[in-house]
Amino acid sequence: MTNYSKFLKEANLTGGIWHSADSNLNIPVTNPATGDVIGHVPNCGTTETERAIQAAATAFKTYSRTDVSYRVGLLRKLHDALMDNQESLAALLTAEQGKPLFEARGEIAIGAAYILWFAEEIRRAKGEIVPAPTNDRRLLVTHHPVGVVGAITPWNFPSSMLARKLGPALAAGCTVVAKPATATPYSALAWGVLAQEVGFPAGVLNIMTGSAREIGGAIMASPDVRKVTFTGSTEVGKSLIRQSADTVKKVSMELGGNAPFIVFEDADIDAAVEGAMVSKYRNMGQTCVCTNRFYVQEKVYDTFVEKLIVATRALKIGNGVDDGVTQGPLIDMAAVEKVESFVADSTSKGGEIALGGKRHPKGATFFEPTVITNASADMDFATDEIFGPIAAVFKFENEDEVASAANATEFGLAAYVYTRDVGRIFRLNDSLDYGLIGFNSGLITTVEVPFGGLKESGLGSEGGSQGLQDYLETKYVCIAGI
Ligand code: NAP
Repeated sequence: MTNYSKFLKEANLTGGIWHSADSNLNIPVTNPATGDVIGHVPNCGTTETERAIQAAATAFKTYSRTDVSYRVGLLRKLHDALMDNQESLAALLTAEQGKPLFEARGEIAIGAAYILWFAEEIRRAKGEIVPAPTNDRRLLVTHHPVGVVGAITPWNFPSSMLARKLGPALAAGCTVVAKPATATPYSALAWGVLAQEVGFPAGVLNIMTGSAREIGGAIMASPDVRKVTFTGSTEVGKSLIRQSADTVKKVSMELGGNAPFIVFEDADIDAAVEGAMVSKYRNMGQTCVCTNRFYVQEKVYDTFVEKLIVATRALKIGNGVDDGVTQGPLIDMAAVEKVESFVADSTSKGGEIALGGKRHPKGATFFEPTVITNASADMDFATDEIFGPIAAVFKFENEDEVASAANATEFGLAAYVYTRDVGRIFRLNDSLDYGLIGFNSGLITTVEVPFGGLKESGLGSEGGSQGLQDYLETKYVCIAGI
């Protein structure tokens, strides 16, 4: 197995120094596939975070004034370092998160691609010269790095979710205090190892592990932190938005989803099943853009379900490091229990288990990929995010009905539609209240476009040219007396 010991950093990073918690207390990190402890990370809190913010604020004074070409050079080196270490980083990611190795390799690669994208995009962060109403003035619009950024990330994409924040922040000239999820801290700490290796100055990237409440609280309370970027649950996101009010921080929020996947009778059903598999079962159903609700038009319902069952049955469950495995474990036992409760709720209301429905014999955190038919709007998964390997299949009759069913949620992140009707594609682009819509594709994320949710799925975008704007302040400059 690939050795990842270089990246198993059992320390936090502040001002270029790796350190433990003031209390010397640690938190164990386990491999969800085996239950084995793979290492420990510091249990830091308020005081350590305040020091990290101070280090970031000090570094900002010089880093924010560096040449764009210097920052572009560092980011390019960071991209290359990631790709040079792709195998070790992927092995580490699988060990702490559980996803199959091929998915982990893909996550490292897209993280690297985000870094490169923002290295390119900062060169195009142009200002404006605006025609003045009188001849004695010149009016300019200029952009500037926003300041110290607090970046809080989830466990499901512990490397690439941080890449989408570090890329624009470091390109713009911001400095960062990052707080990764406690379940998966090593993939974030690895960014610190690489950033140092390629020559980012001390204090530009600081990383804290430990109490979410204390680290998050210190980040939110500090007037020195001018922007907070969060990826995680809607519940925590709302709490951070509330906390941001006292110091009027910029916030960007990538929150929960409840993606509909709509299959019309004119669709290529085989292609729809292929899209369904990737959008449902990637990362064992634990992505924010995972399909939560399949809506299938009545005429093709049985055919789609049959083919979905065949494809689902072919998934190989096991430790993500083993050959051919497509489905690893869920992140922890709480996730398994949550999935079980969705199954129990739906079967008590008339849902039929067509495949799976219970814990997998591999044990502990493994759950069988599950297909539930006869799904209805009163079942919990119609409104709540499943975050696990359950494909719930609803039946619908017509376009208007399915568009309103798809929108009947407070979430608005991703939606998928399979149809060959071009007119319908444009109509649904108008009527579906979602920030990301995949027509005839179940996998649409790419660095060149904005990724972000509507409604309670979030604020702002990551990726695309829009992903840089959130890290820049805009100033209007009036030069009079010309
Ligand atoms: P989570 O429980 O909200 O945790 C996310 C991060 O917030 C973790 O680092 C967590 O730390 C931290 N946190 C928890 N409570 C906090 C508090 N009071 N103050 C500050 N930080 C706090 O979410 P998760 O379970 O890790 O991730 C799953 C969720 O993320 C799903 O809802 C998914 O849809 C969403 N997600 C959204 C996107 C997107 O782009 N829209 C992408 C990926 C995931 P601890 O780990 O220490 O608790």
